[in-house]
Amino acid sequence: PDATYRSKAGRTHKGYCANFIEAVGEKGSVIIDYQYDVNTRSDASFIKEYLENAEVSEETSSLITDGAYAGEEASRLAAGKNMGLLTTGLLGRKPKEILGQFELDESGHRISSCPAGNVPKSSSYIKQTDTIRASFYRHQCEGCPYQSQCNPNIKKRTASLLIPLKSRRRILEPVEIMDEETRTLISRIRNGVETVPSILRNKYAVDKMPVRGKLKTKQFFGFKVAALNFSKLMRFTQGKLKCRSFEPA
Ligand code: SF4
Repeated sequence: PDATYRSKAGRTHKGYCANFIEAVGEKGSVIIDYQYDVNTRSDASFIKEYLENAEVSEETSSLITDGAYAGEEASRLAAGKNMGLLTTGLLGRKPKEILGQFELDESGHRISSCPAGNVPKSSSYIKQTDTIRASFYRHQCEGCPYQSQCNPNIKKRTASLLIPLKSRRRILEPVEIMDEETRTLISRIRNGVETVPSILRNKYAVDKMPVRGKLKTKQFFGFKVAALNFSKLMRFTQGKLKCRSFEPA
């Protein structure tokens, strides 16, 4: 009765969705927390809830997720807990440095000033691509010392450019100070993020619950997560558990 319906990436889904927090160390991994709710809830709200409730980490740690969890707010909350939020999009080719010098207004969806300190004539947010389109007066961009880096599209009266927010976040986030070895390691861990849902689906049959309703299915889901952790523990004690992400290439 609590289950919801939604369409995602061209496929329809009915029921609930879950998120996991898996701690990965040199000797193995364990699921330390999970979230469970109706499937209409956004990934952004899951990570926000997790970060708001998380303790401030004594040692700086990395929270590695796929790109759906990226966002200014999530990165800010993570930084407040001494964590770096590293998403899939952050591990690709480095974007243009100049993007980090565009200031956003409070909404995070409009440019308040460009690297030269100019306020755009207009600025609009394109939700589908998470990009801001900013338009300046032609005389502002033409001959500007940053023109070659911004590469605006100069027209008769105006000059416009696109600022992809995902790329801007990459420039502003600490991942760029990482060396190549650390980046490779993180990419490997990221590639293993899908493993837990896949095991829970295929081995622990989480898609088929013997009960109904959010509360009861959440409890059953928790049992299955505990069973997976127990299996990891058994393998670890038998010397079998390996976290391939940490194996040298
Ligand atoms: S080229 Fe245009 S957008 Fe870029 S810094 Fe100069 S004035 Fe601003």
